Amino acid sequence: MNGKDLYLRLLRHVRPYTRIFALSLLGTVVAAATEPLIPALIKPLLDGSFVAKDPHTIRLMPLLLVAVFIVRGVAGFIGSVAMEWIAQRVVMDLRSAMFARLLMLPTRYFDAHSAGSLLSRLTYDVNQVMTAATQALVTLVKDGLAVIGLLGWMLYLNWRLSLMAFLIAPGIALIVRLVSRRLRRLSRELQNLMGDLTHVIDEMLQSHKVIKIFGGQDYEQRRFHRVNNRVRQFNLKLAAASEASGPLVQLLTVVALGAVIYFASLQSAANLITVGGFVSLLGAMAMLLAPIKRLTKINEQIQRGLAAAETIFALLDEPPEPDRGTHTLGRAQGAIQFRNLSHRYRDDGSPVIQQFNLDVRPGETIALVGPSGSGKTTLMALLPRFYEPETGDILLDGTPIRDLRLADLRANIAYVSQDIVLFNDTIAANIAYGAGFQASAEQLAHAAESAHALEFIRELPQGMETPVGENGAHLSGGQRQRIAIARALLKNAPILILDEATSALDTQSERKVQQALDTLRQGRTAFVIAHRLSTIENADRIVVLDRGCIVEIGTHHELLAHSGLYASLYQMQAHHK
Ligand code: ADP
Repeated sequence: MNGKDLYLRLLRHVRPYTRIFALSLLGTVVAAATEPLIPALIKPLLDGSFVAKDPHTIRLMPLLLVAVFIVRGVAGFIGSVAMEWIAQRVVMDLRSAMFARLLMLPTRYFDAHSAGSLLSRLTYDVNQVMTAATQALVTLVKDGLAVIGLLGWMLYLNWRLSLMAFLIAPGIALIVRLVSRRLRRLSRELQNLMGDLTHVIDEMLQSHKVIKIFGGQDYEQRRFHRVNNRVRQFNLKLAAASEASGPLVQLLTVVALGAVIYFASLQSAANLITVGGFVSLLGAMAMLLAPIKRLTKINEQIQRGLAAAETIFALLDEPPEPDRGTHTLGRAQGAIQFRNLSHRYRDDGSPVIQQFNLDVRPGETIALVGPSGSGKTTLMALLPRFYEPETGDILLDGTPIRDLRLADLRANIAYVSQDIVLFNDTIAANIAYGAGFQASAEQLAHAAESAHALEFIRELPQGMETPVGENGAHLSGGQRQRIAIARALLKNAPILILDEATSALDTQSERKVQQALDTLRQGRTAFVIAHRLSTIENADRIVVLDRGCIVEIGTHHELLAHSGLYASLYQMQAHHK
């Protein structure tokens, strides 16, 4: 998109606030209109008061001058505050829209973009846009009108002299153009750097324990310093580019001023211009300097804003997860069929799932086993449509899941993963998260009890209302998992995905969690990804994956008897115990 389209699109976000916008423009226009009044008052002031000594003018002029400044102040204030109101609104709207869009984006998008860069778009970039859309607009209108007004007055006073001043206009335009291009490029890079900066900070905050253990402080500090320093450099470059245009433009203006003074004195010799007229003309020219300087400066704001608008609109235009399914689905039976399923993450990558076929009966527990990287997690990510498979289908109760409404499909699946996600809220809110928000206290307690979580929740001083801390930092690993299981129980979905849910626990907690999981699995179609084969011995069927293909399938005993990959994995683990 070019600059004009971007700006127009930005202005479209201002459209809902047309009235306030009109008020702001009115204030700004009135304030700007007072600008040429000042040199216009100077002419009668000088010619009338000083030269002709007219008593009426002597009294009137100072009063008029004060009145002009009062109007200018009030109108300017209204114009600016109204514009700020719009600015804050637009920022809020854009942030909401970006947040809403992020919630809809496919998993692929988050794989490809760092959390840091997205964070900085919602915080830093949006603010850049705000300054461009509003402050710059106020300056543009106010100073633009002031310049037009002043020029108009000059033309009216003496068009010959004024036209000379206009000769510098193409020069100014050229400077502004050249500087714009550089400013926009620098702003774009600065934005990316801000993303990198947030990214480094974000990673440091996430991994402070690893940093401590591995003594990574110096490394992190250096990494941060590099980005931090680059941000400083780019800000400086940006400031330099912006500051250079001001003096250049002023120089041109002053040259014009000098020429005008010279020719004016020639004209005055011929009595073509009065003293008041001449001073007024010079005053108007001098008054032109400040708004012209500001106008060249807003160029920086606009370029920064446009660079930010580009990334913001790119995010807003990002296509949401495909949800073209029209079949509604209430509570599913839980029969699942995988039909010739194949998947690759990248078009040029190797297949992660290859020709996978499996029929799962409602209520069956399927364990997925295989070396790390064999595609277990990927297979399970295809079921709730986190990713779209390259070819093949998954059928739920006979309907291809791509034909189901996404929300319906996901409402039928509960998921407990290895890295439990808890929100920084109370235990109750975490169990009731999402669809179960309206759960009653009894339902909560029941879910917690079935998950063997109630026993430790009772012992906490605030019980269910205990805050869990960021990502459950106040709880032990086993406690976190039981809360996640309670959440899945409350959701009461017919299909369950358990991703290595008990891998990180001591025997005591593991028994509790295992019991909770057994309760959870009852009456549901369950997929269990397990590394510890002892936990899945009682699964109905065990599917052994290798490089995305099924290599063995059967019960624990069948597979042991078969003496294949499963048997060797099992022997290896038994050996290590
Ligand atoms: P498992 O769960 O059996 O350890 P995964 O399904 O996690 O295996 O990974 C299978 C393969 O897919 C691996 O080679 C891994 O590098 C690749 N992979 C997994 N997730 C992604 C992703 N989001 N983007 C690209 N490649 C991925």
